[in-house]
Amino acid sequence: MKKLELHWKILIGMLIGILFGFAMTQVSWGVDFVTDWIKPFGTIFIKLLKLIAIPLILASLIKGISDLKDISKFKNIGLRTIAIYVMTTIVAITIGLVLVNLTKPGDGISEETINQLTSTYATDSGVTSKIAEATQQKNAGPLSFLEDMVPDNAMKAMSDNGLMLQVIFFSIFLGISMLLVGEEKAAPLKNIFDSLNEVVLKMVDLIMLSAPYAVFALLASVVVSSSDPDLLLALLKYALVVVVGLILMVVFYCIVVAVYAKKNPFWFLKQMSPAQLLAFSTSSSAATLPVTMERVEEHIGVDKEVSSFVLPVGATINMDGTSLYQGVAAVFIAQALSFDLTLADQLTIVLTALLASIGSAAVPGAGMVMLVIVLESVGFPADKFAVGLALIFAVDRPLDMARTVINVTGDATVSTVVAKSVGKLHEPNPKEWDDHLEEVI
Ligand code: ASP
Repeated sequence: MKKLELHWKILIGMLIGILFGFAMTQVSWGVDFVTDWIKPFGTIFIKLLKLIAIPLILASLIKGISDLKDISKFKNIGLRTIAIYVMTTIVAITIGLVLVNLTKPGDGISEETINQLTSTYATDSGVTSKIAEATQQKNAGPLSFLEDMVPDNAMKAMSDNGLMLQVIFFSIFLGISMLLVGEEKAAPLKNIFDSLNEVVLKMVDLIMLSAPYAVFALLASVVVSSSDPDLLLALLKYALVVVVGLILMVVFYCIVVAVYAKKNPFWFLKQMSPAQLLAFSTSSSAATLPVTMERVEEHIGVDKEVSSFVLPVGATINMDGTSLYQGVAAVFIAQALSFDLTLADQLTIVLTALLASIGSAAVPGAGMVMLVIVLESVGFPADKFAVGLALIFAVDRPLDMARTVINVTGDATVSTVVAKSVGKLHEPNPKEWDDHLEEVI
């Protein structure tokens, strides 16, 4: 086991987790056993990753910006990043919409399946709580996202995982001010954040030692809590459209990495694979962020000046997989419930899915909450939201896992592109995990 590369260990952990989960559903005490004795280890792992996400964003952003020496560089990187993020998201939604319009997975879905899904899920607490959350978001004013981004209490922002954008705002503000006071005066503070950054990255290493076992626990608990297999099958065509769209998005990233960054795309995917496998297992780009940063900096060779800004911002606002899924899901629901969508409606979906993916939190299931807002933008009747979400609820968890992989891969691709464009893509300097293990022990 020790000789194997990390991504193989994680993959083996995942596979054994899935098999074990299935086996446990076959015995009467299996589901309770997994829930009581296995799941907590997965939960602890996610908590540990989230625990270090905020200190990591803080330390690496402040270090990244104060290393720039010149504020115009930050503006340059910032504008490029946002522009490329918007572009990749539009590509993702377009791929999703083209596929769902070509294949029409909702058209064939029988009345009986719709009724079955509705009666099983329309009153499910998962569906109703998502609608309630979306209503709350929707009732906020048009500039509320800007308002929400600015913290009035830095400590409070750091104490809540949902406030990642506020922490990013505070870190950028502090980093820029450090640049402005000049190197000499900022030096003591900078040293603290430099050192914090190194230490937190070491914490990532330590946490990752348990990754293969943690993904076993995570996947076993996903399998035992998954929905009725017959209903999953009924939605196979829809799920396939989303998955094919996500695969096309990976192809798009590979082309960008090969053509623009001049890197072998297979090498790129291999370097990113531990982060991708974690994204799949945790369904959260926020929880995966520490590992994404580690992989991009040490294994792809993106300079910290770039990655420290591009990745945390990307984890919160760039969700290509989520936006692709929202486009497909909105049209699928409309097709299944015979709600006509015009071309103008589909263009509205592009715009709202773009905004919705920016607004979606980087946590499991967030994309489905914002789907309500996409549906509403095309005039979908509010009393049908529950039916609409009930239709896709059964396959949402597996699709969430898949789209989170794309969200993370998209952030890594954009950081590589931005780094290349500003001459900050270096030869990687990977530190092997097993070396760390020896160091630790
Ligand atoms: N789980 C996704 C993420 O964290 C968001 C979503 O699509 O639900 O990236």
